[in-house]
Amino acid sequence: MTHSVSPIGFVRSCFKEKFAIPRQPQLAPAARGVLELVAPFDQGDAVQGLEQVSHVWLLFLFHQALEDKPRLKVRPPRLGGNTSMGVFATRATHRPNGIGQSVVRLDKVEAARLHLSGIDLLDGTPILDIKPYVPYADSVLDARNDMASGAPVLIEVQWSDSALVQAHEHATRLAEPLVALIEQCLAQDPRPAYQKPAPEREYGAKFWDVDVRWHYPKPGLICVLQVIMLMPA
Ligand code: SAM
Repeated sequence: MTHSVSPIGFVRSCFKEKFAIPRQPQLAPAARGVLELVAPFDQGDAVQGLEQVSHVWLLFLFHQALEDKPRLKVRPPRLGGNTSMGVFATRATHRPNGIGQSVVRLDKVEAARLHLSGIDLLDGTPILDIKPYVPYADSVLDARNDMASGAPVLIEVQWSDSALVQAHEHATRLAEPLVALIEQCLAQDPRPAYQKPAPEREYGAKFWDVDVRWHYPKPGLICVLQVIMLMPA
């Protein structure tokens, strides 16, 4: 049986590339975005009542990880990238049907736009459905996952003086919590676990319309070097 689905909207996200997006929602509360609903869901009727809800489940398409041939085994970054696991034991992006799910905070409801935070979604992500989070049913107190028993260990993030000034300036211009966003995302240590970077090696990622560059002066420490505006393409 095949069944076709089509997006009910698209997310405009702070994350403009996959690198440095947290591996799950809620890990970066300053990660914000707007879900723009498309017709016929953009007139207000479909979201009536949603203002009574603090969090929603989003079902979405990993639109930048779709593959024709389903993978049965994947190597989750969480396990260091070299341990193979059954795809259904993981939250990997490469999966049959390419469907992701995230619980995110619902900050504001408008007829055609839902304002979200704590997201782990790439800009342009197609959303297939929205469901209210139901605490009594969705929060399982005795649940366990021995593969991912706790949130990732955070590493320290420091700033060069100039990068911090730049980040504050762009935060004001964008009216976004950019300093917190950068700190929360980099503290997750986005680099692949197998990489042991030389102190001079620079990494970079795009948040909103800025390019953020950092390095690892020593193990367990990130220093943000630069936060500059991207040139329009
Ligand atoms: N919370 C979701 C889930 O469990 O289904 C996503 C988990 S997945 C491990 C999170 C990663 O998906 C992010 O770090 C980001 O790199 C990637 N990602 C987010 N949106 C995507 C998209 N639209 N297409 C491809 N990859 C995406």
